[in-house]
Amino acid sequence: MTVADSPTRPAGGARPIIAGRRGLAPQISVYVFVILPLLALVATVPIAWGWGLTWLDVAIAAVFYVASGLGITVGYHRYFTHGSFKAKRPLRVALAVAGSLAMQGPVITWVADHRRHHAFSDKEGDPHSPWLFGTGPVALAKGFWHAHTGWLFDRDVTNRERFTPDLLADRDISRVDRLFLLWSVLTLLVPAVLGGLLSWSWWGALTALFWAGLVRVGLLHHVTWSINSICHMIGDQPFAARDHSRNVWPLAVLSFGESWHNLHHADPTCARHGVQRGQVDISARVIWAFEKLGWAHSVRWPTQRRLAKLARETG
Ligand SMILES: [Zn+2]
Ligand SMILES: [Zn+2]
Repeated sequence: MTVADSPTRPAGGARPIIAGRRGLAPQISVYVFVILPLLALVATVPIAWGWGLTWLDVAIAAVFYVASGLGITVGYHRYFTHGSFKAKRPLRVALAVAGSLAMQGPVITWVADHRRHHAFSDKEGDPHSPWLFGTGPVALAKGFWHAHTGWLFDRDVTNRERFTPDLLADRDISRVDRLFLLWSVLTLLVPAVLGGLLSWSWWGALTALFWAGLVRVGLLHHVTWSINSICHMIGDQPFAARDHSRNVWPLAVLSFGESWHNLHHADPTCARHGVQRGQVDISARVIWAFEKLGWAHSVRWPTQRRLAKLARETG
């Protein structure tokens, strides 16, 4: 028996979970990409107080929030990570680009980290579980910080060869992945250019850069990261998952349905996360529209039978 088929090694054979250490330049860029939008978020109050914000800034910010947010939820997450539907090639590439506009890392890196999260959910090996430090109040505060943001600074790099061989083999997706820096510049620059042209002023370009660029990226960052932190700590657990995943209704609209996170861990490939009555799931609506347009097919919609099987036995 070789090492590769040893029963102690999970699927992926001899490939280790961690590929190596992140270099200095990418490490510095992670700090910049996390802290710059966060500073913008903090600055919103005095800036809105002092100069206000225009409807134009709000409109551009909303368009980019929706495009980059759905790029993450429908694209990076439900499609690339979990394969909850199949997409025609133009849509496949468009989803990779849209997700890249969220400044949350290149598509293949993001997917590798997230597949690792599901493989080791809330256990040793999970890149961002809040439960790795213990259950006391101090340990949980530390766990919250780690799950929400701290894990991003961990220099151990998830092994893409092990977790994402399918995406590495795709030339188009690899190209989008390598161009991450370009998408990160464009996601700030395009709103600024639009703001400048539509208001015909340099000031309009500057305020759009701030609101529709940095603040929008910062807000989406913290909504996405809340799924890793809050949705593994507080909320309902109507479904049987082998981890701490929970449903958090106040985040449903801003996260485009991703905060129905308990069902997601109970049934990761399901295209709809908000499966119960009244659970708004905008991402599922968008996938439904793609299916109707003929751009997506083989969508893994939930069935009543499957949901009944997944429901947690109560009492
Ligand atoms: Zn999770
Ligand atoms: Zn997932």
